[in-house]
Amino acid sequence: MVDAVIVGSVALDTVKTPFGEVKEVLGGAATYSSYAASFFAKPGIVAVVGEDFPKEHLQLLEARGIDTSGIKKEGKTFRWEGFYEYDMNEAKTVKTELNSFESFSPKIPEEYKKAKYVFLANINPELQLKVLEQIESPEMVMLDSMNLWIYTKKDKLLDVIKKSDVLLLNDGEARQMFNTPNLAIAGAEALKLGVKHFIIKKGEHGALLFSEGSHFNAPGYPLEAIKDPTGCGDSFAGGLIGYMAKTNNSDESNLRKAIVYGSVLASFNAEDFSLNRLKQISNQDIEKRYKEFEKMRQF
Ligand code: AMP
Repeated sequence: MVDAVIVGSVALDTVKTPFGEVKEVLGGAATYSSYAASFFAKPGIVAVVGEDFPKEHLQLLEARGIDTSGIKKEGKTFRWEGFYEYDMNEAKTVKTELNSFESFSPKIPEEYKKAKYVFLANINPELQLKVLEQIESPEMVMLDSMNLWIYTKKDKLLDVIKKSDVLLLNDGEARQMFNTPNLAIAGAEALKLGVKHFIIKKGEHGALLFSEGSHFNAPGYPLEAIKDPTGCGDSFAGGLIGYMAKTNNSDESNLRKAIVYGSVLASFNAEDFSLNRLKQISNQDIEKRYKEFEKMRQF
């Protein structure tokens, strides 16, 4: 049985950073997040790829125990092209080709329906809703999105927010979503929409958590070797939902730990392009860096 259902893009990315460039490599929000989650739990992906999608990418996910039976094959794979300048907190999109995601209507496998943890990774909010409707009784639903959907499908996005427990956005998206430069105001506005928690990702500066009556902030890891931040937000979310699924405890104190595990996964991911760094790490590496995070917070 799958512990965490993840819907989102599975993509071929073309990315340029000041430290190199790659063409049509494995990427996508569901790819990064399920891979990160697989260190803790058994994720199942809901997505569509084209006939052109290299089969070794699927084999890589399956080798980590990720259930890929919810990945349909038709048409042409989603493609994203972007670049970063020296401020690597902001991706600049050159091109987004939705391709087979344009007409994708998800039907989730039986083994996914009883999952308690759901991550609605970045994709069209209408699709996120269709997946959510098919899960029987989730314990925690976490939702991510991006500027494209905030601009073009805000009403649908608001519908999904109302059905979610945790909203996850980066700082730029939070300002845009709630029409304010002030993140504390954005935090309060998100809670008014009914989510229990609002997490704002601040790239290399860590993450903020807003809950009813409390705040938490996790530091960023002082990385010296950043090559490509693509997928850091998704690795963060995947580490977080994977840890929540493993521990099956949605208390805020556990969520705080999950946020630190998410930050650990994101920090590893930035060290190389595509999933190259995540492919090299072990659970021991994750624990070691988690302890370093703990030390950074002692005073
Ligand atoms: P992030 O974790 O925010 O860096 O997400 C990076 C991933 O998001 C890339 O691997 C892209 O393939 C994917 N992506 C970019 N634009 C979109 C979009 N509009 N919908 C879904 N996924 C996207």
